Amino acid sequence: MSGALRNADLHLHTTASDGGYPPKELVLKCKDVGLQYIAITDHDTVAGVSEAIREGEKHGITVIPGIEFSTKESGVSVHILGYGIDINDVAFLQMLNEQQIMRKKRMQEMVSKFSKLNIELKEAEILKEADGGSIGRPHVAKVLVRMGVVKDVAEAFDLYLGEGKPCYVKKQREMTPLEALDWIKATKGVAIIAHPVYYNLDEKIMEWVGTGLLHGIEVYHRDHDLEVQKHYEQLTTKIESNLDLSLLRTGGSDFHHEDYGRVPEPLGMTRVENELAVQLIERINSFQ
Ligand code: AMP
Ligand code: ZN
Ligand code: FE
Ligand code: FE
Repeated sequence: MSGALRNADLHLHTTASDGGYPPKELVLKCKDVGLQYIAITDHDTVAGVSEAIREGEKHGITVIPGIEFSTKESGVSVHILGYGIDINDVAFLQMLNEQQIMRKKRMQEMVSKFSKLNIELKEAEILKEADGGSIGRPHVAKVLVRMGVVKDVAEAFDLYLGEGKPCYVKKQREMTPLEALDWIKATKGVAIIAHPVYYNLDEKIMEWVGTGLLHGIEVYHRDHDLEVQKHYEQLTTKIESNLDLSLLRTGGSDFHHEDYGRVPEPLGMTRVENELAVQLIERINSFQ
């Protein structure tokens, strides 16, 4: 398939969560690097989606509405992507709003933990950093960098914010993967397991597909090297033949901003074939 176009990126973050660019700017950047199909997948919010769709329409870029749910399965963080969800569903928006309130309280608890270590974080600065979006540890980390407490975001997680570190605050209640899958179903979305290399839950993935609620695997991701890719291509094929159904394969850069990630990379480096986006859109349409 050497002639296949590879101008799709189905995993992108904006300032609606912890990304570095507002939706409109991000879409313009996508245009600059020649992307034709993109999806906005902010953490636990769809607040960036409408603006991105509008901007995409101006430039002939297809923008798929999405979300990335943070969930916990037996103590392991699992991210679930939802595509084509109804971003105007009232019950869904209310549930997301409750998550935002919970995130704000959690941030306040982190601030008081820092205070006990004589590191005086200003809540207002963290709020400013989050810019009205979904508040998370990355925002706290960036403020710590600006204050000179740590040299970079990675160090902030290593020393203070990572699980088990002195200023880590557990979320009051974490969704389970199945709850996230139920919400995606309730809003007529398509559910994909994000960057599976982070969790090693192949058996569980098969089980979730078996419930009919999980529709595919993010086989391609900037943190999936060729060997990992091959593993998930094979897992997808194996589940398809064991359960006699057809799964979606998706992928994307998980771009937040240029300096983000274990290995920072500019937008447009990790791309997937347009065909994968087209198949995703077809599946979304079949659920409407
Ligand atoms: P939260 O939802 O507030 O718990 O923050 C989770 C987010 O923090 C993840 O989605 C990542 O974007 C980021 N993150 C988690 N661990 C690290 C780390 N070790 N270094 C940098 N960013 C991280
Ligand atoms: Zn993130
Ligand atoms: Fe993720
Ligand atoms: Fe992500």
